[in-house]
Amino acid sequence: MDKVTIVGLGLIGGSLGLAIKKFIPDTHVTGYSRSPETVVRAKNIAAIDTAASDIKEAVNGAGLVIIATPILTVKDILEQIGPHLPAKCIVSDTASTKSEIMVWAKTILPSGISFVGGHPMAGKETSGIGGADADLFRNCVYCISPSPESDNEPVEYLKKIVTGIGAIPVIITPEKHDKLVAAISHLPFLISEALMSVCAGSDSWNEMAQFASSGFRDMTRLASGDPVMYRDICATNQKEINSRLDEFVKEIQKLKSLLQGDPGDLVNFFSEMRRVRQDWIQKR
Ligand code: NAD
Repeated sequence: MDKVTIVGLGLIGGSLGLAIKKFIPDTHVTGYSRSPETVVRAKNIAAIDTAASDIKEAVNGAGLVIIATPILTVKDILEQIGPHLPAKCIVSDTASTKSEIMVWAKTILPSGISFVGGHPMAGKETSGIGGADADLFRNCVYCISPSPESDNEPVEYLKKIVTGIGAIPVIITPEKHDKLVAAISHLPFLISEALMSVCAGSDSWNEMAQFASSGFRDMTRLASGDPVMYRDICATNQKEINSRLDEFVKEIQKLKSLLQGDPGDLVNFFSEMRRVRQDWIQKR
């Protein structure tokens, strides 16, 4: 029987446990989280088979350990589990950024342990096990970043688990991952925060708030996300985020000059953006 350990039983770790138990039921899942109440809750909703009371016990006998804690905590967890991992154990994570994690894994984990980075491209604004959902990963892209030293076997094993829970594994280098997600994941939450700040910082916010409707709600949805996760993403993908923010500022400048010019140019721009968005929606 496959033995998977999940460290960090919040939204993603809890969902992983539920998904593995629902779709790959002959897998034994052990769970550990910082708060004992969360571990009990995970056991009660059958996201895990065994509740571990400490991290050493959690990784004992594990074939695969998935770290689903906040990004900056992953480093501590690697340090804590390193000495207790069984030989040939595979370690993965779910962090939203990959390059720094891969460096930590390389420097911290003992030889003989394979690290294969992971990032499910699925989520919600709500954090914690309360939002855990067995179907969260169905049909979502699940990024897999093997370390250059990694053998094929651990990568294939993680792919098997990812496919088993209904996700679509995509192999990607950590560098390319961080570059792409800076644009399609990190820039959107920063823009959402900025829009919220512009409006809520206005003297007229109380009046604006009365009129704000679905468009404003949709555009600011990501500002309801977890501040700690956003902080960690910014801390570990600063360079790529900076480049994308520079491009965004240029785009806003372009829009400002379009506003002063021929209205036909604005229509052309909006039409082209509508076309590319519809094309993307159709292809999904
Ligand atoms: P979360 O806050 O819901 O859950 C994190 C869990 O880790 C909590 O249960 C917390 O108690 C536990 N934890 C914290 N420190 C710990 C420690 N030292 N030891 C053991 N457990 C500890 O967060 P989440 O949304 O599930 O995100 C987890 C990871 O997945 C993050 O790295 C995040 O970047 C990534 N991720 C999040 C999303 C999303 O939309 N939320 C999507 C994809 C990936």
